[in-house]
Amino acid sequence: MHSRRPTRQVTIGDSRVGFIRIGGGLPDRAGNPTTIAPVSVQTMTSGYTHEIDKCVAEIQKLSSAGADIVRVAVPEKKDTDALKEIIPQVNVPIVADVHFHFQRALEAVEAGVHKIRLNPGNITDRAQVVDVIQACKARKLPIRVGVNEGSIIERKDKQKRQKELGAVFGEHKHGYLLAIMIAKLEEYLDIFYEQDFHDIVISAKSMDASLVIDAYTEISKRFDHPLHLGVTHAGPKETGTIRSVVALGGMLINGIGDTIRISYANDPIYEVQDGLELLYCLGLRERIGVDLIACPTCGRIQVDLFTLIQDVRKALAAKVTVPMKVAVMGCIVNGPGEAEGADVAVFAGDRRGIIYVQGERVANVPEEEILDRLLKECLGFQELVQQGKAKLGDKKVSIVPPDPMGELGSGWEKMAAEKIHGKQQVQSQPAKLTVSRS
Ligand code: SF4
Repeated sequence: MHSRRPTRQVTIGDSRVGFIRIGGGLPDRAGNPTTIAPVSVQTMTSGYTHEIDKCVAEIQKLSSAGADIVRVAVPEKKDTDALKEIIPQVNVPIVADVHFHFQRALEAVEAGVHKIRLNPGNITDRAQVVDVIQACKARKLPIRVGVNEGSIIERKDKQKRQKELGAVFGEHKHGYLLAIMIAKLEEYLDIFYEQDFHDIVISAKSMDASLVIDAYTEISKRFDHPLHLGVTHAGPKETGTIRSVVALGGMLINGIGDTIRISYANDPIYEVQDGLELLYCLGLRERIGVDLIACPTCGRIQVDLFTLIQDVRKALAAKVTVPMKVAVMGCIVNGPGEAEGADVAVFAGDRRGIIYVQGERVANVPEEEILDRLLKECLGFQELVQQGKAKLGDKKVSIVPPDPMGELGSGWEKMAAEKIHGKQQVQSQPAKLTVSRS
């Protein structure tokens, strides 16, 4: 994993909703050092902004799910009018997504929005852009310049620069599009620099994951503004997850990216959940809540593990805030090895589950009681951690090859043995799990 790319730092928010910093590492305008802020997660509401109560409820739901920043569409004046009532009721910075009508940006600024997104592909009039820049400058609001592959248009007066860039990217798979994207950004950002405006975040989205990687990589070499990463129109969650994660994960691993939005044709709450999980997996954000380990199941399974895992996930997501590792394993054969390092673990088999808390066996319950008992143990362990009486990751299960004929066994072997030797002669041996300090 590469270290994060240093950038200028942009701040969004106010004293009421809090401040979110994006990027950093380069000195600020006064020459003071800045530290690189954690990568933030954004999303966008799916409902109409002018439906005030519904919009407030959706923003609050996304904020509760962990969104650091929420963007809303403002296609009409009734939407920017609604912002005046929405913003005081929410507890997260709000971005107005502006296309085609620069007046919407001015109205959104007036309504108290925390950031503006402009699309260089559809707000091109220099005087209009200057008006928006000046309005944002007066209120110290940042602007995202968001280039989208779908809205970049070749312009006659920029053909020369595109030709030059085309020569640079001539051998490149996406050379033509990259040349247009870079030219468009250069042209647009010149207007901002002329106004001495530098509170800028850049994005360059496409639905093509490999173009997204190439575009951001080239932009990161040319501009020192923080980058908002995203794959646009990624599709339904089922396929959009891979499309987004392959692009965003690849760039984040290389230190590129300061704020992210995963976009799905689905409830935006999934965008927030998956964005956070991506950052947790890469170690770019401190996890809030459970890190769930679960086996994929195989022919050894003897409980309804898929249902159990989903029930455990939902129950723990609602109640556990401590970043404990919880393992839900289908059997005692490979379970301990795969669950190594878990704070709380259940090994199922033979329609029962044995539950361990930091390696100590605490329960052996029938399948129908696994969920409640596991939840109870997780909440108990959370309390100990919060009271300073237990430490996350302090103890782990030491792996001793289990006895497949033990009290969980693989079940199938036990049934086979019973058939051959008779029920009375098959002795139950406890599974051999020991505890050690990690
Ligand atoms: S833990 Fe057991 S049931 Fe789950 S995949 Fe591994 S071997 Fe199969």
